[in-house]
Amino acid sequence: MKTIVRFAPSPTGYLHVGNIRLALINWLYSKKNNGQFILRFDDTDTSRSETRYVEAIKNDLLFLKIEWDKEAKQSDQIKKYNLVTQDLRDRGLIYPCYETPEELDFKRKRLRSQNKPPIYDRSALKLSESQKAELEKDGRRPHWRFKLKNSEISWTDLVRGEIKYNTSNQSDPVVMRADGTYLYLLPSVVDDINHCVSHVIRGEDHVTNSAVQLEMMEAIKPGSSVTFAHVPLLQGASGEALSKRIGSLSIMDLRESGFESLSICSLLARLGSSDSVEAYSNMEEMISDFDISNFSRATPKFNLQELSNLNSKVLQKITFSDIYPRLQIAGINKSDLDDKGNLFWEAIKSNINNFNDAVDWWNICFNPLSTPPLTDDLLIHAQASLPLEPWSDQTWAVWTDSLKKLSGLKGKKLFLPLRKALTGLDSGPELKNLLPLIGRESVLKRLSG
Ligand code: GLU
Repeated sequence: MKTIVRFAPSPTGYLHVGNIRLALINWLYSKKNNGQFILRFDDTDTSRSETRYVEAIKNDLLFLKIEWDKEAKQSDQIKKYNLVTQDLRDRGLIYPCYETPEELDFKRKRLRSQNKPPIYDRSALKLSESQKAELEKDGRRPHWRFKLKNSEISWTDLVRGEIKYNTSNQSDPVVMRADGTYLYLLPSVVDDINHCVSHVIRGEDHVTNSAVQLEMMEAIKPGSSVTFAHVPLLQGASGEALSKRIGSLSIMDLRESGFESLSICSLLARLGSSDSVEAYSNMEEMISDFDISNFSRATPKFNLQELSNLNSKVLQKITFSDIYPRLQIAGINKSDLDDKGNLFWEAIKSNINNFNDAVDWWNICFNPLSTPPLTDDLLIHAQASLPLEPWSDQTWAVWTDSLKKLSGLKGKKLFLPLRKALTGLDSGPELKNLLPLIGRESVLKRLSG
C-alpha cells in the first residue's frame, strides 16, 4: 500500500516550530517510504481562517524545503461533506440537537456537582418529530452530533504503542454547527478517506479524536482505516505550551533572525527522538537517517540556544557556491563576489552564528570602518613592519612576528589592540585570513584611526 500522509494546518495563524515539526515528521516519513505528502488546509472555520495565513504557511514550508505533492483545502469540499452527512443522518448516525450553549453548560455543571462525568445525555434523541417542529417554530436551529457506538477502540500507534480508548468516556461530538458549518472531526475523516491517507501523524492532543475518527471512518466507509502516530507536543524551553495565536517561535521570526532552514529542520527532526541532534548538510541525509520508531513519549523542549549552536555548525558546512546567491540577494555585488567572495566565505564561515553575521563581516572587511586606533608606540612599529603586498594567509604571521620583536609586546596585549583596530571588535574570524581581504591600504588607515 502506498504511503500517503498529510499535514493539515488550520490557516488561523502563523506556523510555530511545533506545527512545523509535525509537517517535517510527516514529510520525512513520506520521503523515507517513497510516499506522498499532502498539504491540506483545514479552513472550515471561516471566521478565523485567512488567505494570508495560507500564503504564509506555504512560504514557511517552501523556505524549509518541505515540498508537497498535492494541495487541498476543506472549503472546496463542502458538497462532499454534505453528502456524507446526509447519508449518516439517514442512517441515524448523525442527529439534531436543540440545546443552547447555556442549557448544555447547565447540564454539565449539574453532572459535575453529582460527581459524574459531564457527558452529553443524548436527550435530543428522545425528541419526537412534533417536539422538533415546535422547537424549529420557536426559531431554534439544530446543531448535529455524531452518535458514538460507545465501543472500545484500539490501535497500534507508531509512537505510543498499543492504545485502547472507550468512546463511552465522551459526549457524542458535534460535527456541524447550527449555521451549517462543519467542525474539524468529520471533514478530516472524509478527506483522509478520499485522499487514501495511509498514515496520520499528528500531535498527541488528538488521541481521543483518533478514537472517534476511527468510529466515523468505519461508519462512512466500512473496512477503511489508517495507521496513527501521535507525537508529544513540543514545548518552549521552560516548558510553556506553544501557540499560534500568541505567535510564539514562529518560523517567520526565526527566518528573519537569520536561522538556516537546514538548522531548523535538523533540530526539529530529532527533538523528541532517541537520535542525537546532528547538523545535516542536506535534506537527503536527514531522510535517510529518519526513523519514526525512535520517537518517544517524552515531551521535547525547544531551546533557541540549541538552534543557535546548530546553526553555526550548519553554516560551516555550506559551500561558497551555495551561499553565493544569498550574498548577492543581501546586496553584495556580483563582481566583488566573483573576485573575493570565495576567500571571504572560507575566512568567516566558521565564526558566524547566522547568515546576517556574514553580511556584517563583508562590510567590516571591505567597507570604510572607523575603529579605535593603536597607541602611538605600537602604531609606529605596526606601520613600519607591515609587509608590502601581495598578501597571503602567511602575511599575518610575518607581520606580527616582527611586531612582537619591535614592540616587545605579545599575547593579548598585542593581538587585542590589533584586532580592534582592524575590525572594530574584540573577537571574530582568524586575523590571518581577514588581513588579505582588508588589504594594505585599509589596514594602514585603520591602524591610525
Ligand atoms: N487542523 C488540525 C490541527 O491543526 C489537523 C489535525 C490533524 O492532523 O488531523 O490540529
